[in-house]
Amino acid sequence: MLAVSTNQTDFEYDIHSLVKAFYPEQEVKVFLGADSGGETGSSGENLPDVHITFDEGKILLLVIGFSDYHDDSYQALGVEVTPSMDRIAVKNALKQLLYHGLSRHTGKQLPWGALTGIRPVKIPMKLLEQGGTEAEILTHLGSVYLVSEEKARLALDIAVREREILAAADYPSGYSLYIGIPFCPTTCLYCSFTSYSIAGWKDRVDDYLDALEMEIDYIAKLYAGRRLDTVYIGGGTPTTLSPCQLERLLAIIDRRFDRRDLQEYTLEAGRADSITAEKLSVLKRYHVSRISINPQTMNQATLARIGRQHTVGQVQEAFGLARQMGFDNINMDIILGLPGESPDDVRRTMAAVRLMRPDSLTVHSLAVKRASSLSRWIHEHGLDSLKNTEETMEIAMSGARDMGMKPYYLYRQKNMAGNFENTGYALPGRYGIYNILMMEEVQTVIALGAGTVSKRVYGDGRIERCDNVKDAALYIDKISEMIDRKKRLFSS
Ligand code: SF4
Repeated sequence: MLAVSTNQTDFEYDIHSLVKAFYPEQEVKVFLGADSGGETGSSGENLPDVHITFDEGKILLLVIGFSDYHDDSYQALGVEVTPSMDRIAVKNALKQLLYHGLSRHTGKQLPWGALTGIRPVKIPMKLLEQGGTEAEILTHLGSVYLVSEEKARLALDIAVREREILAAADYPSGYSLYIGIPFCPTTCLYCSFTSYSIAGWKDRVDDYLDALEMEIDYIAKLYAGRRLDTVYIGGGTPTTLSPCQLERLLAIIDRRFDRRDLQEYTLEAGRADSITAEKLSVLKRYHVSRISINPQTMNQATLARIGRQHTVGQVQEAFGLARQMGFDNINMDIILGLPGESPDDVRRTMAAVRLMRPDSLTVHSLAVKRASSLSRWIHEHGLDSLKNTEETMEIAMSGARDMGMKPYYLYRQKNMAGNFENTGYALPGRYGIYNILMMEEVQTVIALGAGTVSKRVYGDGRIERCDNVKDAALYIDKISEMIDRKKRLFSS
């Protein structure tokens, strides 16, 4: 355990996130003052003690080396804090200081520098809105947030593209709908979403759809007359529903909402073993315009290792079938840093994806979530078996570029392998509009189903959220309360 002490409240979360980025495999605890509950980082595991002190116009950082304090095993750094600095400026100064201290101590440079938020593109977006030039924005990202030049250019490139796409979308007056179907054929090793085995739930799926219908009904009445821009049905794996259940869900949406102005209708057909011609024809009948078939890897041994029971061949067949049935906007997701995968495995995946020619590709960096079985797997096999490096990122990026795709949205998560990012690439005209609206938080998204979070975006940019319970059985039992939460957030 790595202990950090600070004498000021308010920045514990930022401190924790940045220290964790340098030490992803460690538990990190931030203590206020000297009250570390008797715990210390100097535990003989070659971990430093980190002390942050706010004192008379200064922030002082002391990183003390290992358990035996040699004279040369500590470093002290400081930065001035003036009365004119607002909270954000103080926070940035603190994070720069901490970044420099830990970077010196570990010898590591993080691609996103001291930036720990999940939406880094918001920064260049805001600066572009304020009239900043591209050169100024790149300098800002490098000097304030210590972002590498390559990542600064990527963030700026995406911000410019998002602004162009959003300019054509007239998003402020509309809203989007997200519907969660929390069932999957099996649970992936790294899964941290709300997901239940469809086999275990097959007798209650209709109860779930009953509850969902009540929520859909309420929102459809409340938002009647407003423009629905995008619908995204995710999960889970919505195509684990039977053709009849899928038809029931899409028919409800069809009857309740005016879809005249709908710009995009996405459904995640994530797992190849859940896709059939009958289900695809239901999607076609209800005008689903974009689907996602997500192999994550095209290496059979890895698929087995991560708990997927489909084959590489099934991915190719499902993709071919969808194309044959007229789906002309198909996304694929892959993950870099999967257990045991080497750069050559990523090359093989990209070569196989290229042969299928999807319209968009989302490249994820594996994120290690405490709730997932992956944490246990790491405990047994070590973190070294998850390798996401600049080389694998470059293989994926150049593969997307070679298919004619451009990066159009990006987000980060906590504990990502290699401290990288998730990037959505697409062919021009095939950009996922919902992904941008949701990631940049520029439009109200009403989210229905277990484990979903709705966001109301006000004209002044203010955002309010309400969530649904994660547990699907509880969601069914408490559907009236879920509707009440929506009422409180959306009815005024
Ligand atoms: S497909 Fe997605 S939601 Fe389903 S188990 Fe795998 S990671 Fe979880």
